[in-house]
Amino acid sequence: MQTENRSQSAYSQFIDQVRASQVQQVTIKPDRIEYTLKPEFGSHQYYTKSSGQTDTLLGLLKSNGVEYTNLSNNSATAENILGLLISAGAILGTFACLLKFSKANGDIGVGMGMGKSKARVYNQGKTGITFADVAGVDEAKQELQEVVDFLSNGEKYRKIGAKIPKGILLVGPPGTGKTLLAKAVAGEAGVPFLSMSGSEFVELYVGVGASRVRDLFNQAKRQAPCIIFIDELDAIGKTRNGSVPGGGNDEREQTLNQLLTEMDGFSGNDGVIVIAATNRPEILDPALRRPGRFDRHVLVDRPDKSGRVEILQVHAQPVVLGEDVDLDAIAHQTFGFTGADLANLVNEAALMAARANRQVVLMKDFAEAIERVVAGLEKRSRVLTPIERQIVAYHEVGHALVGALMPGGSKVSKISIVPRGIGALGYTLQMPTEDRFLMLEDELRGQLTTLLGGRAAEEIIFGKVSTGASDDIQKATDLAARAVTQYGMSETLGPIAFEKNSAQFLDDSSSRRAISEEVAVEIDRQVKQSINQAHDLALAILELNRGLLESTTQILLEKEVLEGDELQTILTRVQAPESLQHRLMKGQTRT
Ligand code: ADP
Ligand code: MG
Ligand code: ZN
Repeated sequence: MQTENRSQSAYSQFIDQVRASQVQQVTIKPDRIEYTLKPEFGSHQYYTKSSGQTDTLLGLLKSNGVEYTNLSNNSATAENILGLLISAGAILGTFACLLKFSKANGDIGVGMGMGKSKARVYNQGKTGITFADVAGVDEAKQELQEVVDFLSNGEKYRKIGAKIPKGILLVGPPGTGKTLLAKAVAGEAGVPFLSMSGSEFVELYVGVGASRVRDLFNQAKRQAPCIIFIDELDAIGKTRNGSVPGGGNDEREQTLNQLLTEMDGFSGNDGVIVIAATNRPEILDPALRRPGRFDRHVLVDRPDKSGRVEILQVHAQPVVLGEDVDLDAIAHQTFGFTGADLANLVNEAALMAARANRQVVLMKDFAEAIERVVAGLEKRSRVLTPIERQIVAYHEVGHALVGALMPGGSKVSKISIVPRGIGALGYTLQMPTEDRFLMLEDELRGQLTTLLGGRAAEEIIFGKVSTGASDDIQKATDLAARAVTQYGMSETLGPIAFEKNSAQFLDDSSSRRAISEEVAVEIDRQVKQSINQAHDLALAILELNRGLLESTTQILLEKEVLEGDELQTILTRVQAPESLQHRLMKGQTRT
């Protein structure tokens, strides 16, 4: 069989080769793309997984003059969409489109040679990708499993009168598999996948983006049940009040407004579910997150070590591995890698072996490939040095050990040193502090102490504090300030709310009640005092449990993630210092 001679290549590499004019011929099949390099590049035969974006690919092949055969089932629709685009362009007096590829490593613009405007293409059709293609993100998969059920058994939910959620936001660093997951949901449910990328709108003519959004939703309603996927939502969904009059991006705002209108104009029970992806959730317009819009968030984070093993297994499947290849050892050496990095790594290793004219990929190929990929990653400064890893590990264990003794919801259920690449302020999903109106005072103090546990651990072990702890300090200060000014938890000031609860207002520039200089000073003093108390307590706990801090950190450094029974067993061994009862009691005596 012909396929035996083909090696797998990454889709991004395929695109690079097309653009570098190395490709002789391409055959697009429903589930994969087979291609052959020109003789001067060794006539090598490859295949790569289809991206599903056949229409975009056709544009790229045409503009690069590559010979191709299209056997994919959605070519007809692709032509239709192109036709539609062209007439839309004509109406506007502009006559062209620029198709864009979105992939892990950036965007490639492809001119169609008809002018200079921009447009997008969304692709349709079944993705052919399933959950089996996505590894190491089990929690996200679990949450999305439900969405698959909504789509495939919608009737069950409608009958019982349940409202199906319609907007899901995938949040995570680039390359962790957000796009892949969205496609897998469509694949699992066997429904059409309509996708567009937010960045394509930014430079459109006014009105085009909005009408395109309308068009997309109309198509989706006709094809329901189906999925609309909006990649790079932040490109259109940036918060609006940041725009200066006249200096804002009108087009983006119109597009965003249209998106909001469309989201409100249907219900999940119509069988359309909108999945969006972003790696910058903190800049999204809050309007997007309101109920009925993107009110469900799914975190797609970097994989831990066992996740990396699974991802390596997925990508190594079509590769012939030598007997010495130990995926577990490779996972161990690839701390911080995303799924895309790992896919890239496997492919690099396979290329190395092929270059050496070997039939199998050996461990040394992987070693060399790791070096290459790491070098690339270091440029983007995403890899922690060993000492940074240690600091992070002690820090996290510090939080956990302190939290173990605190009342209420401070108990830690999982510690991880896998880097979280989202925003400088470590965006943590499902952190309920904002929504918990009834936080008891001792619970609040407990949270404060837990927050300071990370910093305290660093102080004890290293004698100084890293910049990584600054986010905790910020959070702790906010929490302490809210305790005093909003919840009235202060001994000297009494139960008076000095600040309106900002959650009730859309506008965050909230309104402290007019207060005297004296009271302001007293508030600051109280905030400082509660933080100092919490800090002292955290230090006392960790000093008493220093042995446990050390040993737990070693385990964490080895495993990267600690959770479940193993973690709980450790946490039960934390001893409480004498002062603890006393201090917490003091918190409770307020009447
Ligand atoms: P994102 O959309 O989060 O930037 P993508 O879904 O585009 O990431 O991932 C790019 C490629 O990296 C995928 O096509 C796949 O080959 C690989 N990849 C990323 N994450 C995973 C994963 N969790 N499991 C398997 N492969 C993955
Ligand atoms: Mg993506
Ligand atoms: Zn911390």
